[in-house]
Amino acid sequence: MTQAQARIHAFEPRSRANGPGARFVVWFQGCTLGCPGCFNPTTHDAAAGRSIALDELIGELGRVHGIEGLSLSGGEPLQQPGAARALLDAARALGLSTLAFSGYTVEEIRDLPGGPDVLARLDVLIDGRYVAGERLATGLRGSANQRIQLLTGRYTRADVEATPVAEIRIAPTGDVILTGVDPLKLRRRP
Ligand code: SF4
Repeated sequence: MTQAQARIHAFEPRSRANGPGARFVVWFQGCTLGCPGCFNPTTHDAAAGRSIALDELIGELGRVHGIEGLSLSGGEPLQQPGAARALLDAARALGLSTLAFSGYTVEEIRDLPGGPDVLARLDVLIDGRYVAGERLATGLRGSANQRIQLLTGRYTRADVEATPVAEIRIAPTGDVILTGVDPLKLRRRP
């Protein structure tokens, strides 16, 4: 039997800088959109990162207690719509809210294979390419052209915009993890 897999860059069981409340975050591996100035270029190569069984990743999601939701980031989640859909279904089954960051606009996603299935499972979508000349890095939007799409009534725009712009975590291994829409802010000197 072939087990369904996702190609991911990383996952984080509990983050407060990737949407409202504490959230399980999956960063997909692979993005062909090529936004100049992308702050996460190591996620572009679809052959890099690691392959993980969806059952394993969903098991990790189910083991975390006290989180509010699941966030999908990248890389580009809509370039693995089957995996995105399976993760969102698992989140919904656990009563978690769902959010995704995509370089595609919601209009483009409606025309992508599997795109409407992903949209139907999202509470919030942050959409659109990153445009370095319109850098914003606040309220979960990397640049001003990106939009907060409230696809259900679960959150308000204010809920989404209240997300901290950055977060630093120190893993049990000693690894330092920077995440959020403006993780560079943590490296700046006053
Ligand atoms: S869509 Fe996102 S990951 Fe892809 S190039 Fe643009 S900013 Fe980078």
